[in-house]
This record gives sequence, C-alpha cells and structure tokens, in this order.
Amino acid sequence: MPLLPGLRVIRSPLHGYGVVATRDFAEGDLLADIEGVAWRLGEDWDDRYTLRISDALWFDMVDQTRWINHSCEANSEVDLGVDAHGEPWAKVYAWRDIKAGEEITFDYEFAPEVAEPCFCRAPACKGVIMRQDEPTA
Ligand SMILES: [Zn+2]
Repeated sequence: MPLLPGLRVIRSPLHGYGVVATRDFAEGDLLADIEGVAWRLGEDWDDRYTLRISDALWFDMVDQTRWINHSCEANSEVDLGVDAHGEPWAKVYAWRDIKAGEEITFDYEFAPEVAEPCFCRAPACKGVIMRQDEPTA
C-alpha cells in the first residue's frame, strides 16, 4: 500500500508508536482514507487496531492510521460507515487546524463494555476511554 502523504509513524511520548503530521492541515481536511480489512461477528481476530462499524462489523486498520493514539482532547475524528456493497469504510479528518510535527489523535470512543483506563495526559482527560454519548446503565 502507498504511504499516506503528510503522516509519519514515530515513537510516541503518549504511548508506543504514534502518528505525526509532516505538514500543516486545516480544520476539516481529510488526513486519511483508511485502508482496512472487514471482520464480521462470529469471526475470531485481533481487535487491537480495529474500528467498530456496527454490532456485527469491524474494520481492522492496516495502514499508518493503525498507530494513531487516543486522546480525550483529540485533534482529529474518524467518520465511518458501510458502502453500497456492505463493505466498511473509515476516514480521518482534522477536527481543528493541525501543525506539522503535532501528533495525530482521535477519541477511540470504546463501547462501555470494553472501556479502558486512559493515560492520555490531556488537561481534560476523562480517565477512561469510552464513548460518552450513551448512558452506561
Ligand atoms: Zn484521556
């Protein structure tokens, strides 16, 4: 697969590997049309670098975006869905202006049942990686 322009994998001060911008991006810019592989309910796979598309469909990120870290104050967001053929897609967009050299982050928004403690060090860190838009009860 071709390398994604404007992104580079580095050793991250946040956690493990991370991805930095190698040029400036403006709010709303497309950072990456993510290359991934579909996995469906009932199949057995490594879910560490996988986006949840629905209750029955996941998208394993296989390009540089795999290494994007979570942050509670992320500078990008992921838009995802399913195309007319039932195949998942996902894209990363700049949530705000991003300067060259900044680490790219998005909010992983894990489901409550798979929530993990967060150590992102953002001033507004919620302490847990979990989507906030639904009640947990
Ligand atoms: Zn956090």
